[in-house]
Amino acid sequence: MELYKFLPKTNCKKCGKPTCMAFSLDLLQGKVKVDDCPPLLEPKYKKQYDTLKEILGSEEGQQKELKIKLDEDLCDGCGICVTVCPVNARYCPSSLSGKAPEYPPEEHQLFQVIGGKCELLKIEHCRRLESGGRERECRVCETYCPREAVKIEYV
Ligand code: SF4
Ligand code: SF4
Ligand code: SF4
Repeated sequence: MELYKFLPKTNCKKCGKPTCMAFSLDLLQGKVKVDDCPPLLEPKYKKQYDTLKEILGSEEGQQKELKIKLDEDLCDGCGICVTVCPVNARYCPSSLSGKAPEYPPEEHQLFQVIGGKCELLKIEHCRRLESGGRERECRVCETYCPREAVKIEYV
């Protein structure tokens, strides 16, 4: 989000991406560079251009990986993330109870609560990796965790 606010936000598609938001996600992951947005090279966007360059620094263009971190000390095993994750909801109806995963878990299942703590089973089917459009901005698990135990990061 921080990178997005310095983009022109016109969704002109000159970068080859469908929206400025999509470009900002790729910028965050090191898949594109600031100069890949042609309008940013115009004098009227110089300030935003310089700010983006400063924020990204030497990490610009370095490929980053999605990580979903679960803080064991904060998690109380409430199961809300298990229930609200749209991938769990779509493919694993049994996970809607929050705490009763099937064994073995359905291949798409991302979260489950084991021994009173949430565990990330896998990340491959997260919408941030598999989907297009706005689904790539999914932040449902992080937003709905009442204990702020979920953190979405690119490292
Ligand atoms: S070229 Fe720049 S302004 Fe146009 S859609 Fe891409 S990021 Fe947005
Ligand atoms: S970001 Fe969305 S799809 Fe990915 S694990 Fe979290 S809730 Fe599920
Ligand atoms: S929503 Fe948060 S506190 Fe609840 S199980 Fe998930 S990570 Fe743990």
